[in-house]
Amino acid sequence: MNSACVYRAYDETGALLYVGCSGRLLARLDQHRGNKPWWSEVRHIDVQQFDSRDDALEAESAAIASESPRYNADLHASAERAWKTRRLAQEVAHKRGVFCNVASCSRCARGRAYEASRAAS
Ligand SMILES: [Zn+2]
Repeated sequence: MNSACVYRAYDETGALLYVGCSGRLLARLDQHRGNKPWWSEVRHIDVQQFDSRDDALEAESAAIASESPRYNADLHASAERAWKTRRLAQEVAHKRGVFCNVASCSRCARGRAYEASRAAS
């Protein structure tokens, strides 16, 4: 499985500077060190590990949309749009009684597991 993590970079006052997602955290942070002007403000980084890249990407979009990191500004609008589009698609799928494709949806995960167990028996 393709695990990945979501990381949050904070400045010395605890303000959120940046949220990112990567399967190779250390390489990505090295990259930021080289090309992001805000890197010098970073004092603390929180890392959250996910089992799949989809879950991590979803958590990243949600975090960017809801936590408004200072330096995700360009990405913020598009992440928010993508997030809303996915939420809408999820709502429509649930209303139609089919499984949505949001990786972290526990409701559909339970439904899929149930169908799989019925198919297996
Ligand atoms: Zn669902």
